[in-house]
Amino acid sequence: MKSPVSIIASSILALAATIAGPAAAQTATPATPPKLIVVISVDQFSADLFQEYRGHFTGGFARLLTGTVFPSGYQSHAATETCPGHSTILSGFRPEHTGIIANNWIDQKAPRTDKQVYCAEDESVPGSTSSSYTVSDKHLLVPTLGERMKAANPANRVVSVAGKDRAAVMMGGHRVDELWWWDGKAFVSYASRATPAVVARTNAAVAARIAQPEAAMDEPDWCASHDHAVPLSPEKSVGTGRFEREAGSMTKFRASPAFDAAILALGAGMIQDMKLGHGPATDIISIGASATDYVGHTYGTEGAEMCIQLANLDRSLGSFFDVLDQTGADYEVVLTADHGGNDVPERERDNGLPEAARADVALAPANMGREIAAKLGITGPVLFGDIPNGDVWISIALDAKQRKAVQAEAIARYKAMPQVAAVFTAAQIAASPEPKGPVETWTLLEKARASYNPAHSGDLLVFLKPRVTPIPDPTHGYVATHGSPYNYDRRVPILFWRKGMAAAEHPNGIETVDIMPTLAAQIGLPIAAPRVDGKCLDLATGMPCP
Ligand SMILES: [Zn+2]
Repeated sequence: MKSPVSIIASSILALAATIAGPAAAQTATPATPPKLIVVISVDQFSADLFQEYRGHFTGGFARLLTGTVFPSGYQSHAATETCPGHSTILSGFRPEHTGIIANNWIDQKAPRTDKQVYCAEDESVPGSTSSSYTVSDKHLLVPTLGERMKAANPANRVVSVAGKDRAAVMMGGHRVDELWWWDGKAFVSYASRATPAVVARTNAAVAARIAQPEAAMDEPDWCASHDHAVPLSPEKSVGTGRFEREAGSMTKFRASPAFDAAILALGAGMIQDMKLGHGPATDIISIGASATDYVGHTYGTEGAEMCIQLANLDRSLGSFFDVLDQTGADYEVVLTADHGGNDVPERERDNGLPEAARADVALAPANMGREIAAKLGITGPVLFGDIPNGDVWISIALDAKQRKAVQAEAIARYKAMPQVAAVFTAAQIAASPEPKGPVETWTLLEKARASYNPAHSGDLLVFLKPRVTPIPDPTHGYVATHGSPYNYDRRVPILFWRKGMAAAEHPNGIETVDIMPTLAAQIGLPIAAPRVDGKCLDLATGMPCP
């Protein structure tokens, strides 16, 4: 039987064959800049998952393991969410400087009913809301590598493709030749952009695939130890899924290996159609492979589902690199992640983590705020935000004295709750020094500082204790998540590969903000002001750090 994976792989190759000429000889000479930079972000791919499965990879991950491996990269900040994480990868700046301090923040002065603002929206567009938004790059305050390359040489092409708009926008930046994301039904872009043939072709192929039901996928032998049911509630269990899907289910498609195959197929098609890597200057494409995140949120990270997802991603990445080889482009790859992840607490407790728990609903700012308002005799809501890990806002409708009283009450009440690790005020974080020293030794306050921005951050920052999942009830919707300041959410692999690069592994902690200055050195691009937070890493390719 032909497995679904090989069908995906062969469809990528078939797509490739429609464009590609005969395979050219590789011309990589590591003392010269590569002609194409390929940046891949695997959403929610923790260093823990990488470590757990690296010995089993035989496809694209196996190729990357023959390059320069940093198993301990860090999204060093506290706000380990998708938007902040992607904003660090190609900017060289931590979220305190990119301005992207969360996926969503509260702007109580926003001139609309919905006071929540999405990181990649333009809230000034009439009709845009945080859940049905107009996609925009306006909240990203710093340039990306692609923008810097274009400023140095306008012949550069900058392309960004992702399963999420925020991944595509935060890695692509403000000056892009092509930028496409999955909107839940198709790959789309800004309203003003024409649809290239490769996007239309990919959308048609993906729509045809979704219209068909999906049979249960094969499970590699090495996934068997993960394959057992873990009950989460009387109605629901996880751990034994195979990604079978009824015809037309967009939600199940998105949380399955087929989604990453589609994203990588579009990336490969873009490289072929635009002849990236064959222009007068070095081109760059960023690809946000989002399925791992949806699989983690839907099933947790330690079941058969994640194992099958990563096995298939390995194969899809292998097919993707095969297509790139066929184009003859001299390309350099970096693969990393926007944040790590945490398993469902129900399985973590079985796996030797008795502290794992689901958050008490009393932690929700709305619930906490109601009690505080009653005590202080205030009418109307006083606290805003989601169940932390992260920001809590105090109502600006209150007078200064009331705000002070609400803040004091909230700090005392949060600190008294057994699931809370720490509470900081915005003033405390703002007054604290920039993080310094090895990234693995930062304090909670230093991590908070790295994703604090006075324009968007909350009045209070509340951190839950390790392994407390801020999803009180897993019965409906997501069952597991990330977003904490702990290393299971901060630590991600950073893998560099180019043909001819000597294999090397460096166990020291580095940061995802180091990727941008490192890639800049690989193409001989000086980093002009503003100075970035990251530092250049020497990759022994003949293109040294300045
Ligand atoms: Zn993410």
